[in-house]
Amino acid sequence: MTLKAQPKASHFIDGEYVEDEAGSVIESIYPATGEVIARLHAATPAIVEKAIAAAKRAQPEWAAMSPTARGRILKRAADIMRERNRELSELETLDTGKPIQETIVADATSGADSFEFFGGIAAAGLNGSYIPLGGDFAYTKRVPLGVCVGIGAWNYPQQIACWKGAPALAAGNAMVFKPSENTPLGALAIAEILHEAGLPKGLYNVIQGDRETGPLLVNHPDVAKVSLTGSVPTGRKVAAAAAGSLKHVTMELGGKSPLVVFDDADIDSAVGGAMLGNFYSTGQVCSNGTRVFVQRKIKAEFLKRLRARTEAILIGDPMDEATQLGPMVSWAQRDKVLSYIEKGKAEGATLVTGGGIPNNVSGEGYYVQPTVFADVTDDMTIAREEIFGPVMCVLDFDDEAEVITRGNATEFGLSAGVFTADLTRAHRVVDQLEAGTLWINTYNLCPVEIPFGGLKQSGFGRENSLAALEHYSELKTVYVGMGKVEAPY
Ligand code: NAD
Repeated sequence: MTLKAQPKASHFIDGEYVEDEAGSVIESIYPATGEVIARLHAATPAIVEKAIAAAKRAQPEWAAMSPTARGRILKRAADIMRERNRELSELETLDTGKPIQETIVADATSGADSFEFFGGIAAAGLNGSYIPLGGDFAYTKRVPLGVCVGIGAWNYPQQIACWKGAPALAAGNAMVFKPSENTPLGALAIAEILHEAGLPKGLYNVIQGDRETGPLLVNHPDVAKVSLTGSVPTGRKVAAAAAGSLKHVTMELGGKSPLVVFDDADIDSAVGGAMLGNFYSTGQVCSNGTRVFVQRKIKAEFLKRLRARTEAILIGDPMDEATQLGPMVSWAQRDKVLSYIEKGKAEGATLVTGGGIPNNVSGEGYYVQPTVFADVTDDMTIAREEIFGPVMCVLDFDDEAEVITRGNATEFGLSAGVFTADLTRAHRVVDQLEAGTLWINTYNLCPVEIPFGGLKQSGFGRENSLAALEHYSELKTVYVGMGKVEAPY
């Protein structure tokens, strides 16, 4: 049988594809049909060693290159990604089930932005400072960390591979990246493109694996940093393991973000923002505004428009450009989401629309209807736990102070949004909401220029922007004595 998306081998190490069939089998499944589209192997300990050794060997020479020369290669990779956007987007759709309508604008393109941005700022973003000290002086320099490990989630496989790889490489590090076992394909394509763009071998390696493989990377003594995108429970495990050898960590974890709609908001924009922040990527977005607080006066009108627009969403074949909502990434995730929907019904939330499996799609696909619950209260399971599916919870509120307190009453702190015509209020509210990335009168836009990351249990460290370079480098301080040393003995 020919498999639709079979890569040349499971891993990409030291500039070439590598296989080790001793590793357990990972089946890559197209979520729209349940079809196996590729068969790969998880990395054995020997593969992990090989990848880390290649990265360790290649890194010093890369770090010794000028940042401009490093940046040039990254920018070339960005150009290749844009030229191949169609091909990469189709691969991303096969890997994740996300509709081509989304992947064509949000995945490889955002990865390319990342290589372009970090390629461009490598030369200016890594400068140190000069500190006058009277006669003496000091200076600081930003130096790379060494071998960095990236571990990805399954919702944005190509984007995550780039968001971690681009700043790491720009700062002079080498990377070993492990994609999610659910979406093993995209990162291999990124590795190939980087090498085609001229990246010296050994600097960006991809190995496959699951929760058994991750710890082999995290515990490895030659690894200086781990950047994880994943759930909070995984974040706790990875941070704890990394602490054992005092590795640097960036944690991009989950959320249950509040999106607050005041009664003076442009209702159509707020409905659009809430839909984007709950249904894009079939709800599998960490920063989603899954608790939509709507001021009571506009509740009826908001729900009316939301319901009409939600019921008009085109669900179907992800490869059809008209399709707006694809399947969940896996059968397990589909079941998890359906069980949350049942909990919502059982705990007394009002089902406005959706609530089950759409009837216009193949029963083999992992589809769930876009679902809206109203009259959700803070204590309901669907208002407290991250569902990671197309399930929007609408909660009522009366005044500003109340909604801030309730919005913050969560262990998470990834994102938040406010829709209002009163910009003074908007700034006052975002100032008090406990989140790392916040939006006023829009939602979920994450261009590479702005820092992205969470507070509280949603993690620490930042991706994108100049801030990311700081998380892939460290500071050295040099004190220069200009006179004779005066010692008292
Ligand atoms: P997950 O936590 O199950 O897995 C994430 C990755 O960690 C996978 O590659 C997995 O193989 C690996 N892993 C699991 N256990 C490990 C261990 N003990 N040591 C090392 N690696 C281990 O997450 P998921 O289900 O793939 O993704 C969904 C989660 O990711 C959601 O909670 C979502 O909010 C979060 N997410 C966060 C961001 C962000 O930027 N903040 C972005 C996307 C997704």
